[in-house]
Amino acid sequence: MLYGHDDIALRSRFIDESDAPEQRKRMERQKLDALLGLAETARCRRQVLLSYFGDHSEPCGNCDTCAEPPKLFDGTVAALKALSCIYRTGERFGQAYIVEVLLGGSDPRIAQFGHDQISTFGIGKEFDARTWRAILRQMIALRLVNVDLAATAACRSRRPAASSCATSRS
Ligand SMILES: [Zn+2]
Repeated sequence: MLYGHDDIALRSRFIDESDAPEQRKRMERQKLDALLGLAETARCRRQVLLSYFGDHSEPCGNCDTCAEPPKLFDGTVAALKALSCIYRTGERFGQAYIVEVLLGGSDPRIAQFGHDQISTFGIGKEFDARTWRAILRQMIALRLVNVDLAATAACRSRRPAASSCATSRS
């Protein structure tokens, strides 16, 4: 999928800043959530698409996830680490920064804000940056994280506790 956290944030900002009535904005947000859910699903995409229209079907056997099912792993611990990191950095930083802190990176802002002193600094070294970005996208699709805040595209935790999160590991 050729999209990232910034695209989601941008689209989300367009909706928030538009002059449309609140009801219309809510619909647009739901469509964005549905699109993201479809993009990030590990299930048959046809099944997911039909479920939006209230229809049920067996896996189609033809879509990309049927043809090549994503490898899943239990992402509970990873999701908790990411949520904790988002929370401990004040819920005001974007994905790139969160990943830097999880990896114990050298972004100069980390020392400036004292984020090399928090417990989540460097606790995510079992994954590379690309995998963490995929995990965060999954968390957004699962509504564990809200991509928010017009100007900054910061990550916010939506709930204190995470359920499991799955992602393809590559
Ligand atoms: Zn399918």
